[in-house]
Amino acid sequence: MKKSALITELKGVGEKTQKLYARLNIRTVDDLLAAYPRDYETFSEPVNIAQAPSEEAVAVCAAITGIQNEKRVGKLHILNMSASDTSGSLTLTFYNMAFLKKTLKRGGFYIFRGVIRRRGNTAGMEQPKIYSPEDYRKLTNRLIPRYSLTKGLTNQAIQKCVRQALSLCDFEPEYYSRAVLRDNDLMSAGEALETIHFPADYDSLLKARRRIVFDEFFSFLFLMRKNRELCERLKNEHPMIETADTVRFLEQLPFPLTKAQDKVWKEIREDLSSSYCMNRLIQGDVGSGKTILAVLALLMTAANGYQGALMAPTEVLAMQHYETVTEYVRKYGLTFRPALLVGSMSSREKKEIYAKISSGEANLIIGTHALIQEKVQYASLALVVTDEQHRFGVRQREHLAEKGNVPHILVMSATPIPRTLAIILYGDLNISVIDEKPASRLPIKNCVVGTSYRPKAYRFIAGEVEKGRQVYVICPQIEGDEEDTEGSPVLENVVDYAEKLKNALPAGLQVAFLHGKMRPGDKNRIMEEFAAGSIDVLVSTTVIEVGINVPNATVMMVENAERFGLAQLHQLRGRVGRGKHQSYCIFVSGSEKKETMERLEILNRSNDGFFIASEDLKLRGPGDLFGIRQSGEFSFRMGDIYSDASVLKRASDAVDRILREDPELTLPENQLLRIHLLETAADSVDFRSL
Ligand code: ADP
Ligand code: MG
Repeated sequence: MKKSALITELKGVGEKTQKLYARLNIRTVDDLLAAYPRDYETFSEPVNIAQAPSEEAVAVCAAITGIQNEKRVGKLHILNMSASDTSGSLTLTFYNMAFLKKTLKRGGFYIFRGVIRRRGNTAGMEQPKIYSPEDYRKLTNRLIPRYSLTKGLTNQAIQKCVRQALSLCDFEPEYYSRAVLRDNDLMSAGEALETIHFPADYDSLLKARRRIVFDEFFSFLFLMRKNRELCERLKNEHPMIETADTVRFLEQLPFPLTKAQDKVWKEIREDLSSSYCMNRLIQGDVGSGKTILAVLALLMTAANGYQGALMAPTEVLAMQHYETVTEYVRKYGLTFRPALLVGSMSSREKKEIYAKISSGEANLIIGTHALIQEKVQYASLALVVTDEQHRFGVRQREHLAEKGNVPHILVMSATPIPRTLAIILYGDLNISVIDEKPASRLPIKNCVVGTSYRPKAYRFIAGEVEKGRQVYVICPQIEGDEEDTEGSPVLENVVDYAEKLKNALPAGLQVAFLHGKMRPGDKNRIMEEFAAGSIDVLVSTTVIEVGINVPNATVMMVENAERFGLAQLHQLRGRVGRGKHQSYCIFVSGSEKKETMERLEILNRSNDGFFIASEDLKLRGPGDLFGIRQSGEFSFRMGDIYSDASVLKRASDAVDRILREDPELTLPENQLLRIHLLETAADSVDFRSL
């Protein structure tokens, strides 16, 4: 079977299952195998009831001693049974499982697996999984993969499919030369794929992961370096001079630039008027005021008679930039003739915009990556600014070059990256850092709390809305997916949560929800309504993580905060504290484990993105395999530029070496690598899609 085969070619996958897989973006066997497990479940040896730690999944081996009681609450049947081992006893609570009265024999030993909660002297376990001691023994000390699920598709079903695919597929032969494998101590590609799904033990899992991460970095860096000509210092084809426009705009702005903004603006001005093409990254924490710098650079471009483009990773953010700029034009009479171009526009609308771009009628084009697609022909594109993006994709740059344009590039990002990594990842990009925030801001007040704090939080939210403010609530999931969350806290989802919140808040408050799977038009509408103030509380996934600027929003409440990386939480926090009002952040943790709370407390202590990212790293040991992502800006499936920095360095050295010894990959030992790179590199630098 070919890896490109449709998933329906697997036994047991019919049309119905195919649709379920499609919801996970799995269409081919290759997609299935590339959907690596989210994490692994370990079935540890049973422990004594008395010594069992609370708040984490444990297994106990206990005998049923009897039925404590049984009751009905509405449609819910609740059964309490007691069980004990030599060390103590335990109350087991089962919901709608009355049949257990018959199947669980009094005096019989079973393994119960779940989370133990203690109240006073009594220990209890709700809805534990039940195994016979023999069955459980077979599972112990193995790593069972846990996949991302969707309603109707169980973890077990996916496991079965993956096993089948692994046994039927023809695998790509090993593509690295023996030297590369040996020098970097790499497992073979086929073995890594099998092991990542079904690891024999923890050590081989680590090795498999390392191989996969190496591959990701290798393809990415190879493609990037191959295209170095495009990144090298190019002649400035669009030389500019400073005009009165930017000076006048700055005079009219209600605030002065911060010192840091001023310094970066000077660097940009010099770039645009120097004899080389600009290739600059601006790093600045959330709220440091990057947008205004983009506007200034674009204004200088327009004043010099050229076109500029401003590219955002999401339509929502693109629309917001468009509105900001239109407002500036209205207020300050700027010389922009702005146009918006996003994927969700009708083809007629798009055609109109294309015409305005090719005639030069529009001189500032704002949009998503639709901006640099085939059909768009620019009259005189001289500057491309990308917001909330660490790098301007190599392919994107190539596209533009093919059209005969070599524009200046300005990339803006809030994700801090240490200089050593930046050099590997960007080559010779110039880096400007905005290390200061506008002084007028009140610092955000934070709290890290457990779920029992919710009623208080809701009262607080109602109070802020009363004062005319607005609120974000973030949940990790879109819909109530049937994830197997045994032993871990319940994951809140946007759709149900919005409903719950409507009931918990006073009547009349406008609650709406937003997530990435909504139609773009709907997403944009909700975001516009929120920006206009007609929605009070917006329950959302992290789609609002990047860039959104609604200064009237003063509360950010994050549910299941334990599920997010600190850097991401910091980014979310950056959505408030953008105006003159005092802002608040409520991080609700679904788990009150000591380590979890300590990690989240870092956010309480610091408001500095760079510090937070580095503290987070320190806390994550090397065993933290699937470290919560620091940054979604680099679209690696598994690699994390921070915690896998050493692998990144190795891949970088390996790429350098091959490019030195066999730059065109003509040696026989590099033939398979050449083919592999041609096939995979194409999508390794795509923009992140939300
Ligand atoms: P980010 O760096 O996160 O993209 P923005 O550019 O969206 O931040 O700026 C956040 C808010 O701060 C905006 O409302 C913007 O108008 C305001 N702002 C930007 N620069 C300054 C400044 N120098 N003084 C006061 N407010 C500023
Ligand atoms: Mg921004």
